Amino acid sequence: MASAPDSDPDPRREAHALVASARALLQELVEEGVTDSLTPPTTAGPSRDASGRVDTRPPTPRSAPPSRPDGGAAPAVSPTASAMDREAVPWADRRPTLEEVRSHLGECVRCDLARGRHSIVFGDGNPDADLMFVGEAPGEQEDLRGLPFVGRAGELLTQMIEKGIGIPRSQVYICNIVKCRPPRNRNPLPPEVSACRPFLDGQIRAVAPRVIVTLGKPAAGLLLGREVAITRLRGTWQEYQGIPLMPTLHPAYVLRQYTPENRRAVWQDLKAAWERSRA
Ligand code: SF4
Repeated sequence: MASAPDSDPDPRREAHALVASARALLQELVEEGVTDSLTPPTTAGPSRDASGRVDTRPPTPRSAPPSRPDGGAAPAVSPTASAMDREAVPWADRRPTLEEVRSHLGECVRCDLARGRHSIVFGDGNPDADLMFVGEAPGEQEDLRGLPFVGRAGELLTQMIEKGIGIPRSQVYICNIVKCRPPRNRNPLPPEVSACRPFLDGQIRAVAPRVIVTLGKPAAGLLLGREVAITRLRGTWQEYQGIPLMPTLHPAYVLRQYTPENRRAVWQDLKAAWERSRA
């Protein structure tokens, strides 16, 4: 039998081999829940909103003025928008109220996400909640209504809280890492996350929950300060500034990968988080 040559001279066979390895890599990334990170910020392809639907609207040019419900002039974006250093806040060494954090945020233009938003989606729920949920960023419905998790993914989260745990959604507190919708639902960029971070920290400090549940890889990665593989990390207890933290899958991911395993996994995580918050 002739031995195989070092390189295959048949370009079709080579192309097949490349496609096969690309497929294997993609499958691996899907399992890690990181496929969203493959979408470049300015991609011309279709994107999905937080509820998993394809966004068919034309992309907003980054230089375009913001669309505002009142038709008013675009807010000027602060020159500190790309600053990576954390903003000093008045509640650095004490517990603020949510109203104080919201008031300090104001009509924020600290980063480029101010350009395209309709509303600042600050947070929603019980200011004294034992259980606090942290997601990544508002989607289209959230931006329009000014409330977090109100699209299809939000409906799933609400069902899991109300039917899974058995408590009204109003009993928990829900917010996101960034408070303004990224264009075409791309992932928030590091300067945007950095600019908004003091307000997430302020919310956590104000609510002082007994347990935090992070929804999806970016929220878990941000609060834990490291890259995470969410499908491996979910369901395992972590800690953020002394507060027990339960990472789970993002409801938008569960909608996209709507398997009994994923639904059961999130339900188990939420149940464990709720029980620990009552202990
Ligand atoms: S995302 Fe946060 S920091 Fe950026 S403009 Fe909105 S509220 Fe301000």
